[in-house]
Amino acid sequence: MRELVDKLQEERRLEKQEWICLIQDRNESLDEYIFEKARSERELYYGNKVYIRGLIEFTNYCKNDCYYCGIRRSNKKLERYRLTESQILDCCDIGYELGFRTFVLQGGEDGGYTDEKIVHLVQSMKALYPDCAVTLSIGEKKKESYEAFFQAGADRYLLRHETANANHYRKLHPEELTLENRIQCLMNLKEIGYQTGCGFMVGSPYQTADTLAEDMMFIQNFQPHMVGIGPFIPHHQTPFADMEGGSVELTLTLLGLLRIMIPNLLLPATTALGTLHPRGRERGMAAGANVVMPNLSPIDVREKYLLYDNKICTGDEAAESLQHLKQTMKDAGYEVVTSRGDFIHK
Ligand code: SF4
Repeated sequence: MRELVDKLQEERRLEKQEWICLIQDRNESLDEYIFEKARSERELYYGNKVYIRGLIEFTNYCKNDCYYCGIRRSNKKLERYRLTESQILDCCDIGYELGFRTFVLQGGEDGGYTDEKIVHLVQSMKALYPDCAVTLSIGEKKKESYEAFFQAGADRYLLRHETANANHYRKLHPEELTLENRIQCLMNLKEIGYQTGCGFMVGSPYQTADTLAEDMMFIQNFQPHMVGIGPFIPHHQTPFADMEGGSVELTLTLLGLLRIMIPNLLLPATTALGTLHPRGRERGMAAGANVVMPNLSPIDVREKYLLYDNKICTGDEAAESLQHLKQTMKDAGYEVVTSRGDFIHK
């Protein structure tokens, strides 16, 4: 197996069957081999720096009904909220003082937040914090909308592709959502000039080594600037309530492999990883990640943005605890920096 890792490091790509082998036959000693290489690749571009992003979950309204998601439109038990622009700017204010230089606006596909409102919001953020990057994570939009947000000053866009296999996609989403459109959105974002992020859940229902291999193939071809992966965690008010959750170990292996595949990738240790393991974030760093996204949303709405059960929003996951996060990272040999933390081109 080590020769496949060596080949990945050398050629930055593998054949589908090779990916399947690595995914199926992963083991602890191979993981160590992968993580060591991943850390040295990361070192070349980013040193021991950890970039922080202030996550603002600004609306939990969503017109979609993805089967795995706690804020899907069919979840009638959820109390919905939508932050106003001024509430969002208050979050930025607090975040800026704390040292955040990237704000991530994340929300469901909320018709109440029209394109005009998003444009206005991004313009306001960029006017008040010109030295900060704005990342949007607000789902599938028309190309013109993406262009308008970019013109307004948005720098980055996160849109997980969820799975690169159309049959698998069908099993995770209702019919009105298609993999084809998802991929088209990603292509549009990259073409417009965003630092673009894709990603997927590890261990999502019906996922196989084969579909995971297709995810890795998609990423090696698409060459995103960021990739967000985290273990699938079921939410009790979704059709997948009783499905098995994803594995922390496999998530870590894939983080390492992603780092080796694209050494200059911005790679977060996601909240889902921290939710399933108390040291998930540090282990993510040790596997090759270099980004963490503490929660800057107002405390009273955090419990309403539960994409999955038991999602953590306190401790190191909360922006208020940044000092503690910095210390935890320092103890692990990393330095949390006050910087936009842009993608470094080769
Ligand atoms: S995954 Fe995104 S698009 Fe799907 S229901 Fe949840 S918030 Fe909406």
